Amino acid sequence: MNERVYFDCSAMIGKRGPKDEETRFATEDLLEEMEWCGIHGALVAHWLGKEYDPAYSNRKLLKELRKSPRLHGVWSVMPHHTDEMLPPRDLVQEMRDHGIRAAKMYPRTHHYPFSEDFCGELLSAFEEENILLIVEGGAMYHPDIFDAFNQVLLTELDAAMSRHPRLHLLLQGSRWEATRYLYPLMAKHRNLYLEFSNHQANRALEVYAGWFGAERLLLGTGALDKSMGAAKAFVDYCTLGEEQKELVAGKNLARLLHLDSMPGAYRPLPVRDPILRAAKAGVPLRDVLVVDAHAHISHDGARGTGFMHQPFSDASSMFERARTMGISSVCISAWVGVWADYEDGNQIVHDAMKRYPRFYHGYATLQPQYVKDWKREIAKVHGRYRMGGLKPYFPRTGLPYSHAGWAPWFEYGNRHRCYTLIHPSDNFVADMNALIPRYPEMHFILAHQGGSFGSARDGIEIATKFPNVSLEITLTSVTYRVIEFMVEHIGAERVLFGTDQPMRDPIPQFGWVAYSHCTLAQKRRIFGENMRKIQRRVRW
Ligand SMILES: [Zn+2]
Repeated sequence: MNERVYFDCSAMIGKRGPKDEETRFATEDLLEEMEWCGIHGALVAHWLGKEYDPAYSNRKLLKELRKSPRLHGVWSVMPHHTDEMLPPRDLVQEMRDHGIRAAKMYPRTHHYPFSEDFCGELLSAFEEENILLIVEGGAMYHPDIFDAFNQVLLTELDAAMSRHPRLHLLLQGSRWEATRYLYPLMAKHRNLYLEFSNHQANRALEVYAGWFGAERLLLGTGALDKSMGAAKAFVDYCTLGEEQKELVAGKNLARLLHLDSMPGAYRPLPVRDPILRAAKAGVPLRDVLVVDAHAHISHDGARGTGFMHQPFSDASSMFERARTMGISSVCISAWVGVWADYEDGNQIVHDAMKRYPRFYHGYATLQPQYVKDWKREIAKVHGRYRMGGLKPYFPRTGLPYSHAGWAPWFEYGNRHRCYTLIHPSDNFVADMNALIPRYPEMHFILAHQGGSFGSARDGIEIATKFPNVSLEITLTSVTYRVIEFMVEHIGAERVLFGTDQPMRDPIPQFGWVAYSHCTLAQKRRIFGENMRKIQRRVRW
């Protein structure tokens, strides 16, 4: 076993307002999961620091930190002008007295401008006293539009860092769509750091390390909302060298916090589950069938796909990535087929299937707004191209799946016992209730059902009613404990591993299952046995 030390820069504990009843929040839950995954330390913020009074929450956080030397605290702070916080010098002294070396600001939630006039003095104090400042931003499809996920706009970040060039700033919560915004910021500001709990872009660690160096990339888990194992696997299975992995896993954070020593090792415990053991070692699974039930693909040599940077997304790159984890086969629909041009998409998928037989399995894309001759199109994609899957897509056609526009295709799918990957539509449960009984022989794979406990409940409701339904998990949220929740309610034989690669890197999605608290037999079903059965039902 390696000696790498893992130090999470992005965990939160404590109560907040909106929360699913299944979502864990206690410090004890965090400590237990850290040990399960082998994460040695965590930099922890308290939810009340965001949702209630910073000074009040900071005192509460200190109490929680006493529960384990593995925990380091982030204080919630704001400028002092309105007398809600100590002036910057006194605040920094108080932080030092309590061993707090990082601060987090929530200007949008706390309703103040992230401007030099209001925040400059505080930022100067952090800059001079080497306090790591954390903000959330770069989220959602347009990271420079204000919304609940962007505490700081990237333009504001740019201005602040230009005024305070020695300030060390960690950006949390950014997503892959932000890459073209983040690139110029990271290039301009050497003290800007990035964590990857949300930023699961394809090969993100390798890409960002190549651009800016591994010194600026940090392991962030987003616990307890997110699976810690997902984030840890992202580091372990990426193809950076050992020295770079050590930096990302923990050394960078320890350096930024000016810690004298790294969090200590755990007492070694035997790991009986070979899937968990392989994941912890960062080696490919052997003797386990792993089928990615939900993936896409781009054209050969693609570097981007319209609204996002998406490198290494072609057939050979995805094949290479799959080998690092031991993924045996991948079920793909083309990004362009889903998004804009179904014919080009089917061609890209067909080409990949020909070059990597048995590895790539095709989902056909047909857009009712274009298709005139269903018979001919179906004969081509399912007959000649041997695609066993259907990938209708509500968000880009605007057609609910129960709409008559899809019927000729679904009737074929039903006769031939094909499988259909369904991305949620508006009024999803009603749409499925109308659709599924019409096609009892077709298998319905509901996509993204692990995105939240709420969507899992919708999926469970549908799956309980109809036997020809499975729930596929993938989403950036890698919701902690939701896989276990689905297994508990509908059984492991109805849950499917999927990744949505190459938009998302497949590794975190893989780690989410590998580190789950399911049994080995359940993980085997989820990883591949279930999908193989679904594929074998197809009547050609
Ligand atoms: Zn997808």
